[in-house]
Amino acid sequence: MMMDHPLLITTMLHRARKLFPKKEVFSRCFDQDHRLTYSQFYERTCRLANVLASLGVKPGDRIGSFAWNNHRHLELYFAVPCSGAVLHTINLRLFPDQLVHVINHAEDKIIFIDEDLVPLLARIADQLTTVEKFIILSDKDELPEINLPRALSYEKLLAEAPAEYDFPEDLDENTPAAMCYTTATTGAPKGVIYTHRSIYLHAMMVALPDVLNVRERDSILPVVPMFHVLSWGIPYAGVWMGSKLVLPGRLLTPEAICKLIEEEKVTLPVGVPTIWIGLHQHLQSGASYDFSSVTYIVNGGSAISKSLIKSFEENYGIKVLHGYGMTETSPVVLISEPKSYIDQWDPDRRYAQQARQGLVVPGTEMKIVDVNGKEVAWDGKEMGELCFKGPWIADSYYRDPERSAEAFRDGWLHTGDIVTIDEEGYIFIQDRAKDLIKSGGEWISSIDLENTIMAHPDVVEAAVIAIPDEKWVERPMACIVLKESAREEVDQQDILEFLKDKVAKWWIPDRVLFLDEIPKTSVGKFNKKELRKTYS
Ligand code: ADP
Repeated sequence: MMMDHPLLITTMLHRARKLFPKKEVFSRCFDQDHRLTYSQFYERTCRLANVLASLGVKPGDRIGSFAWNNHRHLELYFAVPCSGAVLHTINLRLFPDQLVHVINHAEDKIIFIDEDLVPLLARIADQLTTVEKFIILSDKDELPEINLPRALSYEKLLAEAPAEYDFPEDLDENTPAAMCYTTATTGAPKGVIYTHRSIYLHAMMVALPDVLNVRERDSILPVVPMFHVLSWGIPYAGVWMGSKLVLPGRLLTPEAICKLIEEEKVTLPVGVPTIWIGLHQHLQSGASYDFSSVTYIVNGGSAISKSLIKSFEENYGIKVLHGYGMTETSPVVLISEPKSYIDQWDPDRRYAQQARQGLVVPGTEMKIVDVNGKEVAWDGKEMGELCFKGPWIADSYYRDPERSAEAFRDGWLHTGDIVTIDEEGYIFIQDRAKDLIKSGGEWISSIDLENTIMAHPDVVEAAVIAIPDEKWVERPMACIVLKESAREEVDQQDILEFLKDKVAKWWIPDRVLFLDEIPKTSVGKFNKKELRKTYS
């Protein structure tokens, strides 16, 4: 028999302190850039754990964070769970009433807030029923002037706290460690609780060679917010493996990201397609940087088009690694690293394969079922709903029995994503069930159509939604953002002409609408709900 040793986040923290004390965390804050060694990071994390204890935080208490990607947020990622409490990373782009809901629903006791975000919480502070204190994350030691009751200065508290802390070693590995809320199509956001064990196993899997291959020699730039599914597990995997972390703060313009990649010699920049579309446009406009350090751009959260993968590789020598996940899956569960022999395929076919969401990661089980619960054929054609089970897949939503019963059935998470799977086992998301377009009894994949439209050289972004139709029930409408230089020249006819030999005739949209911008969700995905509300 083997030792029954608990899988705790504390293990990652101790490893970084012992083996990588000289390695660096770069952090861009409101006023200045910081460089901390893991040794300094560890000491600050201990001080923070002492602060939590002095504020009366008990095991299981929920502690909110309302912050950008920076070193203070990283300290919370470790000090809170390693001392037995639960970190609730609050999505700072939620609407005020959603914020009130998630904070009250999680019953956050303390909220740590970046100084520049204070106004967002100040206007709802009187509706927060459980919050006892607000701790302000700022580069200044003294509390800045703010309009928030019961506020304290993070740096002042840290400075006064002891520099050593004995993190408990006897925590149960199934102790809740963190929680995130996912925005739902209808109703309030749904909460998912991660445990020490799930975060540990997920981080280890993320670091595997055929997943993100996280190494000590990596310099990782999580552009994906630390409030979005724990930044996809990157902070945990990075600290554990001793990688350099580059935390970009709030400034996420293409130029700022490009400069960070160049200056901090980033190997793995990680984010959603909106970021990569912007960065690609910036490069196309003639901007030039040294990207020789980059192993892959890691894309997730939404599909990335084959044309973008191809252009990054052929025009800029940058490879793209495409993954898929959701809040309920910690999130990484599919990854589209091409198998070795796919390298021999002709490039166009390989790019198409990379645009698929990929193979299920080790440690997770997957099945794809039709409406009768029968598994679909691995033929790249038959569509079904994607389901998962495994040690980092949620088994319910926090205090939400009704919606838990809908999504978690027979021991499986039913994702609501409609997919195909090909002979090689690569999964291709066709749509979220609610976004599929049913035209004349046949399904049209809005994602596929969008990606085909985005291959047009003058198109920057495309989102396809269903519009009601008397004859066909639903027909596709394409909402398109053109490059600024093409706005006078390209019209609906050009787009339809472009699609003619690329998709089935009945997939060609009935209407094309040119917009200045596609509305985005709180985590930067195309907001089709909003588009449908406005235009359907
Ligand atoms: P939200 O519902 O707020 O967007 P999540 O971030 O949990 O929250 O989103 C999960 C969903 O995002 C998945 O169910 C899927 O529809 C979509 N998704 C995630 N990654 C990809 C991807 N690589 N390609 C296509 N869709 C994706």
